[in-house]
Amino acid sequence: MSDMHLDPSRPDINALFINYVQQHGPQADALYLLGDLFEVWLGDQTSLPDYSDVIKCLATVAKTTPIFAIRGNRDFTLGKRFAKASGTQLLSDPYTIDLYGRKTLISHGDLLCTDDVDYQRYRKIANNPLIKWLALTLIPAGKKRDIAKNMRAASKKAQAEKQSDIMDVNHDAVIDWFREHDVQQIIHGHTHRPKQHHYEIDGVAKQRWVLGDWYSQGSVLRVDSETGAELLELNLAEG
Ligand code: MN
Repeated sequence: MSDMHLDPSRPDINALFINYVQQHGPQADALYLLGDLFEVWLGDQTSLPDYSDVIKCLATVAKTTPIFAIRGNRDFTLGKRFAKASGTQLLSDPYTIDLYGRKTLISHGDLLCTDDVDYQRYRKIANNPLIKWLALTLIPAGKKRDIAKNMRAASKKAQAEKQSDIMDVNHDAVIDWFREHDVQQIIHGHTHRPKQHHYEIDGVAKQRWVLGDWYSQGSVLRVDSETGAELLELNLAEG
């Protein structure tokens, strides 16, 4: 799953996510959360109390099923305290796993959107460890909320002004990752364009799975050791 964008103001989506994790998590071999689990994360100290129901749910399921998380662009400040409280293991982005015998690269996906030069520049600055640490340590919680609100408004405006293909992954960047990491498939989110893409690279068939967002439904890539991968859509009514 990725791009749940959980937010206290959207209790229906929070409930859909919690119900799904509680119902299916215990039977799974592992859960992977590929970024933007939260709509906004203002550092562990500030945001942990805002999402106590989600954290509690993850911690309960994590007792029996390993849960792995990759940071997204909305929650890139997820830290050690979050990991400890939720029982999840934070992974670097991208990260290679063995998915039932298939070498797989998992990622949030924003790194592949190389056509969006402004965004990549911002990402580099925001992810600088020193800048991140200073911002989290020095800015008071109330101010952090204001800044996050302004940044979301600015990002919405920028997105509306950008051509939509700029915000999708760059084809060459995808091919580079397949070669560089020598994987059979890539699974990511971020673009909110759920789909299975097929490639042939140096004569070998490869797949790229894109997860959907959780704005008006849920989106899950369920991978079964025998039947393979399937992209599922969860209706809000089921939550
Ligand atoms: Mn994202």
